Amino acid sequence: MPKLRFGPAGKPLGFKGPMEKVPGYLHKIGLDALEYEAVRGVRVSKEKACLLGEEAAKYDIVLSMHAPYYINLASKEKEKIEAGRRRLFEAMRASHWMNAYAVVFHPGYYKGWSSKEIAVKKVVEQLRKLEDEVKNQGYTGPWIAPETTGKDSQVGSVDDIIEICSSIGKCRPAVDWAHLYARNQGRYILSIDDVIKVIDRIEKELGSHTVKPLHTHFSKIEYGKGGEKTHHTLREEEYGPDWVIVCKAYLITGIDAVIISESPILEEDALYMIGLCREVLKDGSIKAKATSSKIIISPG
Ligand SMILES: [Zn+2]
Repeated sequence: MPKLRFGPAGKPLGFKGPMEKVPGYLHKIGLDALEYEAVRGVRVSKEKACLLGEEAAKYDIVLSMHAPYYINLASKEKEKIEAGRRRLFEAMRASHWMNAYAVVFHPGYYKGWSSKEIAVKKVVEQLRKLEDEVKNQGYTGPWIAPETTGKDSQVGSVDDIIEICSSIGKCRPAVDWAHLYARNQGRYILSIDDVIKVIDRIEKELGSHTVKPLHTHFSKIEYGKGGEKTHHTLREEEYGPDWVIVCKAYLITGIDAVIISESPILEEDALYMIGLCREVLKDGSIKAKATSSKIIISPG
């Protein structure tokens, strides 16, 4: 039975308390996913990570982690590459402790290479090293999850992510629909078909386990010349992409998905997304594999 899980990127805005108590709060408000944000560095202790993992298991909250932003595995500078791989290793270790299933990260930049393909190759080289390091230390729980990124100077097109994931072992894509929209100047992710094509490619080229669940981010987004500028809330009509087309694509394909809200109002928009998906199911406007009697959506 297809299952859609929703949750915030980081600590919910309405919650004041320690991180390890967040799962109970999410359960109470009707959400069942959480992306732990280590975007400025992985600082969580083993003890706290384990506690968070226990609470998440108790309340059936699926955990993922966003690794530090400051990673460029395609850098021309050796020290920067090493530091990036180190940060990613720390994120894998902490995720293993808390039983987070995926470590989301931005692979790096094309800058300095004569082609995008070479930059992607550099990323793969580093991830292969990382895999060995992780294996040697036994931190083999989480999937490495390269994200589709929001700027056209960043490694992270759908092609890049598929190439990376097909080149290393335990890898699954993290699809940020807003980023794909922004890096293509609002000319992509405009229709249900755009979304379905991405899902189908991932499933076909990387295997059906990568859509069970497909790890995804959503918010609205503002873009400029180079792509991503700022994330926006779902009710701001002047911005895209449209959540309803993404939801419809999930229901039509019948995939499982984790949807992390990266909207400025985090959990409020996660709940709003659930509401919109339920309306789609009710109005019967699409031919879906996931009908209301045959799908599990976060309690909401
Ligand atoms: Zn990200």
